Amino acid sequence: MPRFQSIKDWSPGYINATPSHLDIMAECIACGETRPFSRDSLPPGMQHAEVRDVERRLKCASCGAKAGKLLFGNYLEED
Ligand SMILES: [Zn+2]
Repeated sequence: MPRFQSIKDWSPGYINATPSHLDIMAECIACGETRPFSRDSLPPGMQHAEVRDVERRLKCASCGAKAGKLLFGNYLEED
């Protein structure tokens, strides 16, 4: 499974400002669970939302905490 390399302390500000070549990962601050985040999963009203507003809506599927953080970066291909 490819490793996700996030850009440290960087956010596009708005979710729609995320460069298309970047991948998004949602991380739960409470339990450390990470999962790929798809821009297409956002409801129409959230497509141009601020990243922090999207983060507020994230709920961890593992522990139920609303402590999500979005990480922006790329998957590294490992061989
Ligand atoms: Zn969690």
